[in-house]
Amino acid sequence: MATDNSILKLQDISKSYSSPDGGDLSVLESVNLSVQSGETIGITGPSGSGKSTLLNIMGTLDTATSGNILLQGQDISSLDEKNLARVRNSEIGFVFQSHHLLPQCTVLENVLVPTLVSSDKNSREDRARQLLERVGLTSRLSHRPALLSGGERQRVAVVRSLINSPALLLADEPTGSLNRKGAESLVDLLMELNGEETTTIIMVTHSTRLAKRMGRALALDDGRLIEQ
Ligand code: ADP
Ligand code: MG
Repeated sequence: MATDNSILKLQDISKSYSSPDGGDLSVLESVNLSVQSGETIGITGPSGSGKSTLLNIMGTLDTATSGNILLQGQDISSLDEKNLARVRNSEIGFVFQSHHLLPQCTVLENVLVPTLVSSDKNSREDRARQLLERVGLTSRLSHRPALLSGGERQRVAVVRSLINSPALLLADEPTGSLNRKGAESLVDLLMELNGEETTTIIMVTHSTRLAKRMGRALALDDGRLIEQ
């Protein structure tokens, strides 16, 4: 088989939900996508078009009704939950619209949450401090999330998503709770980190303007993924 450099491959991914009033609601129809290592991709679509569903399937948080997902060449569609959790924790970082930081923990503690199952805690703490410095939060290490601005909380969430050096960063409307300026600077940060951390980034957003700032812009339309 020819080797290719794709980090993520979706093959004929379809997803339907059973509707409460009977019948099926088809959300994704035969979605195919090949993502090269180091790419940045923006996916747009109106509310309800299936953006979160698609991202959750890419991130192994949800399963497709049919189709296959290859992560770094490995078909993860058939992995059991234990192996799936290992892949998810080590290879995939998530950022959501809501930061999901733990309110009772400090910034530094929040960033270290994904490392609790890792063996190498000391080097992770060094990395956490470096990344927090990188995003301008060195003076906030001991703050609790409630004391931060919305943009600062999302920067903490981005650092937390990168702490285990994932190959793939999936961001679901990460700018959804920010104003325009905050949204632009979060996308600036993602693009810079893509270069520095060599993390492939897929961001979904309802903003075509933000999606077009990524290396490649795609749109979900009627369950299908279309190049913009
Ligand atoms: P988006 O993120 O683009 O707003 P979603 O992926 O959240 O869209 O949802 C796509 C469609 O699937 C919506 O019509 C939504 O109502 C439906 N949907 C999402 N999750 C479920 C579920 N667990 N059960 C039934 N329908 C769902
Ligand atoms: Mg959504």
